[in-house]
Amino acid sequence: MNVYFHTFGCKANQYDTERVRQAFDASGATVVDDPAFADLAVINSCTVTNESEVKLRRLVRHVANSGHAQTIVMGCAAALDSGAIAALPSVRAVVANAEPDTVLRAAGFAGSVEVGAQHAAPLHAAARSRALLKIQDGCDEHCTFCATTLARGNNRSRPVDELIEEARALAEQHAEIVLTGVHIGTYGHDRSHAGTTARHTLGALLEALITAVPTVRFRLGSVEATEVDDTLARLLIDAPRNLAAHLHAPLQSGSNRVLRRMGRHWYTAESYRARIEWLAERMPVLGLGADVIAGFPGETLEDHDSSLRLLESLPFSYLHVFPFSVRPDAPAARLAGQLLPDVVRERARELREVGEAKATAYRAGRVGQTADGVVTGRGKGQIEVMTEDYLSVYLDTDLWDGRPRFEVTVN
Ligand code: SF4
Repeated sequence: MNVYFHTFGCKANQYDTERVRQAFDASGATVVDDPAFADLAVINSCTVTNESEVKLRRLVRHVANSGHAQTIVMGCAAALDSGAIAALPSVRAVVANAEPDTVLRAAGFAGSVEVGAQHAAPLHAAARSRALLKIQDGCDEHCTFCATTLARGNNRSRPVDELIEEARALAEQHAEIVLTGVHIGTYGHDRSHAGTTARHTLGALLEALITAVPTVRFRLGSVEATEVDDTLARLLIDAPRNLAAHLHAPLQSGSNRVLRRMGRHWYTAESYRARIEWLAERMPVLGLGADVIAGFPGETLEDHDSSLRLLESLPFSYLHVFPFSVRPDAPAARLAGQLLPDVVRERARELREVGEAKATAYRAGRVGQTADGVVTGRGKGQIEVMTEDYLSVYLDTDLWDGRPRFEVTVN
């Protein structure tokens, strides 16, 4: 059976797809790059934006029109499907998770396949120097704009021993391991039991991983600023070879009123600012990114200005700006004060302008400085190297001696 895979959405989805791909591979299927040559397409879906669901429907129709393949849709949008995805042409099954065994069964394979640590997921298969390590799934929070919690369920952390074993296997082939999940700052909270003194935290996990696998560079996936505890902060400051100097800390809004409407009760604009400033003062280099939502329902001009002012005043090196889009499954769809699309677009444009200016200024300040580079891509006579602070540097292939990790000068 020829199988085509496609992933929408986040790194957690990429990791999940890779596990399913490995299960099909182990079952004797052949992975193909073109749906026209496939008997089956497996699409891992995302529900974070409207746009990702539009793209999903377009891809399913494209698969149906380009050959004879049937399609299995799995993942977050599939979990929330009330029949619309199942009714798309050539859809064989809609699977509410991305469990390899369930997807294999939906494809008509009998039995199950062990997807072990030795098969852990490469992030960029072509370059094979960065890998993903999914440390938890799900989230216990209920942000009003997010349907992910509904789709993925509560926080479920993987055991430390299992993660160390997987990290060791990944380190044999990769120079960098990115810790990923849905809400990684809450890693271990579900494993801490009343009456025990053992602390299960992201910081403790990272310490254990670095001790067990000191040869690779770990990188944190998206983590809430106020969930950077003292252990994590110490590692970020003191162990730059082991933990990349990079924080992607979702902000979403610089207005406390909007944060409350978003259900993001665990921080304020002030506590976010305090944690970031504390870290930035102590780190000689810090790649700092954030997600920001433009035009959340009820957001006033004053709220929007608060976001702009906070973003301008902190040392961001890039921003991901999302114009608010109504997710029918998320509570924000029912909030009063939905803004006109033009207003949302304009506010997103202004936020992006700040993000671009910040990115340009940050990079300009780094040009000519040395960085710890890991090769992440190759093509057209060039290699792409990612620095510890999340800058891409491009070098001619002729100048590369083949090492996956080396000192590079930012250009
Ligand atoms: S913290 Fe909020 S945005 Fe992030 S996964 Fe949980 S509910 Fe969604």
